[in-house]
Amino acid sequence: MVIAVQHLRSAPRYLRGSVVVNRRRCGKANCRCAKGEALHETTVLSYSEGGRTRFVTLPADQVGLVRAALERYRAAQKALEERANAGLAELVSQARRDRAEPRPGRSPVRGKPSKASSSGSEAGKPRP
Ligand SMILES: [Zn+2]
Repeated sequence: MVIAVQHLRSAPRYLRGSVVVNRRRCGKANCRCAKGEALHETTVLSYSEGGRTRFVTLPADQVGLVRAALERYRAAQKALEERANAGLAELVSQARRDRAEPRPGRSPVRGKPSKASSSGSEAGKPRP
């Protein structure tokens, strides 16, 4: 099933999926598309939901807004991935450093936060 967007008052900030052009025949015998030339073109946003591909029909004047939101999502996703990679690199290099020069005074087991911890603060830890 295809749902259609009539008008976007404001484009969503982020969208995922891709803009594709569907070409089809409408089924009317006397239409220009019946011969197989000049099929009807519909621009849609194709996206997956629950493992299924779905489409939203886009009016021509909304395509630019949708593309912009897709691009914002790609950029944000890339930026987030770069931050996660930096975090990963930091974690790995720290782990390698710790293994290379073990400190005798440091306990290898970190204190776990208590289950009742609701604030996420350092309550429960002994203060110096
Ligand atoms: Zn037609």
